[in-house]
Amino acid sequence: PCEQACSRGEVNEPICIRFLKRFVSDRDTKRWKSKLKIKPDTGKKVAIVGGGPAGLTAAWFLRTKGHKTMVFEALPQAGGMMRTGIPEYRLPREILDGEINDMLEIGVEIRTNSPIESVKSLFAEGYDAVFLALGAQSGTKMGIEGEEDPGVLDGITLLKSVNLKEGTVKIAGHVVVVGGGNVAIDVARVSLRKGAKKVTIIYRRTRKEMPAAGEEIEEALKEGIDIQYLTAPRKVKPAGQRVNASGQKVAPSGQLEIECVKMELGEPDKSGRRRPVEVKGSEFKISADLMVAAIGQKPVLFPELDPLLNETGWIAADPVTLECKKKGLFAGGDMETGPASVIKALAAGRKAASAIDRMFGGDGEIDHKFIPEEETLMPREIGRQEAFAYRERAEIPVLPVEKRADNFNLVEQGFTDAAARKESERCLKCQLRLRIKKTPMPF
Ligand SMILES: Cc1cc2nc3c(=O)[nH]c(=O)nc-3n(C[C@H](O)[C@H](O)[C@H](O)COP(=O)(O)OP(=O)(O)OC[C@H]3O[C@@H](n4cnc5c(N)ncnc54)[C@H](O)[C@@H]3O)c2cc1C
Ligand code: SF4
Repeated sequence: PCEQACSRGEVNEPICIRFLKRFVSDRDTKRWKSKLKIKPDTGKKVAIVGGGPAGLTAAWFLRTKGHKTMVFEALPQAGGMMRTGIPEYRLPREILDGEINDMLEIGVEIRTNSPIESVKSLFAEGYDAVFLALGAQSGTKMGIEGEEDPGVLDGITLLKSVNLKEGTVKIAGHVVVVGGGNVAIDVARVSLRKGAKKVTIIYRRTRKEMPAAGEEIEEALKEGIDIQYLTAPRKVKPAGQRVNASGQKVAPSGQLEIECVKMELGEPDKSGRRRPVEVKGSEFKISADLMVAAIGQKPVLFPELDPLLNETGWIAADPVTLECKKKGLFAGGDMETGPASVIKALAAGRKAASAIDRMFGGDGEIDHKFIPEEETLMPREIGRQEAFAYRERAEIPVLPVEKRADNFNLVEQGFTDAAARKESERCLKCQLRLRIKKTPMPF
């Protein structure tokens, strides 16, 4: 998200901030570990429900402040959507496992296969605070006729099955994915890698309104995924029966017949995007072997939380502290914001850790400084450089398409040292503008 706000974008194109951060983290020597200071034990205990990025981040920072932290994770492994949702070709699991190990090393405890269904029982067990970070684990239904057919799934279920190697979803033939966000693109690209012969995404608006990241859409198109814009599903049903050699109908064919309709864009809706409206008489049919809805997510909560929900059914928490209406109970991440991003979940974990530490009487200061302030390291001059404004944004190196078909190898390759240096030299050093003296005015 910070890349979209980069000021260099007003000159030509933003700095590849995300990729430069990746460059740095790929070269993490872990030397910082020797400088990490863990505060002495405070005797306070925090239960964290959910081992996704929000929960793990809170656990890390609370532990460094000397509090005991126990993460309860429903699944056999921690990581949340970074493990069950985001495919391995975008986030290698050894990176995730390495970071979780760093947490275990400083004393964060993680109890897997441990779904929690009561906050009261955690307080009764002696925890002084509870941070809920359950995410949004359930895929939203499309609300169309026939979607209960076993050939119709939601994207979260499909990705979890593939990512955790559960083997519960059979992917073959023609897969039709409904939606225009990152989950839809991930489902489509994963399906292609897991045996689909053809993948079609149907999206009810145009490419311009698609919420998925531009580079992900580009890669999906390069991999051969077909995107049908201004198209919405209306109903789905099993498509006839399989016929044996003697011409008898023996069993359902397993195929689906999806009735779609073309859309056009009308007036903007609440989200500011133009509302799609059906074009009369434009119905048409698509046959598919699997239909996957990737149109949204919602949290899976337990009844005790009902009094803490807002009118839209999501948990309500103080925007500054993330504390809920119940004292000592905090909530954040996707379950509070709605499906968002890893960085927003990390921010929620930091916020909760800081607020819980303050509740325990600490200073809430969670940042670590491992190196001297950047100010002392960075040259302060902005010299004039020829054609600086025209320097083009670096290309992100990617694995060739023909090497991706049947594997989950990392698609985006890292920058070389030279490429990273060249790209970072396009930076406007916006922080220095505060130091530029006002031009003296003539008397
Ligand atoms: C397919 C997909 C692709 C995505 N791609 C990106 C991306 O490229 N970049 C990006 O920034 N973001 C991406 N996101 C979004 C990002 O992954 C989420 O916003 C983020 O993981 C939310 O973090 P969280 O900790 O709030 O929840 P989650 O990551 O969902 O973690 C919640 C955890 O809580 C556990 N849990 C739930 N209920 C209980 C319970 N009762 N007891 C114990 N444990 C429980 C769950 O099993 C889960 O492990 C993607 C999401 C998906 C689904
Ligand atoms: S300092 Fe560099 S990276 Fe940050 S907004 Fe300015 S140009 Fe972009």
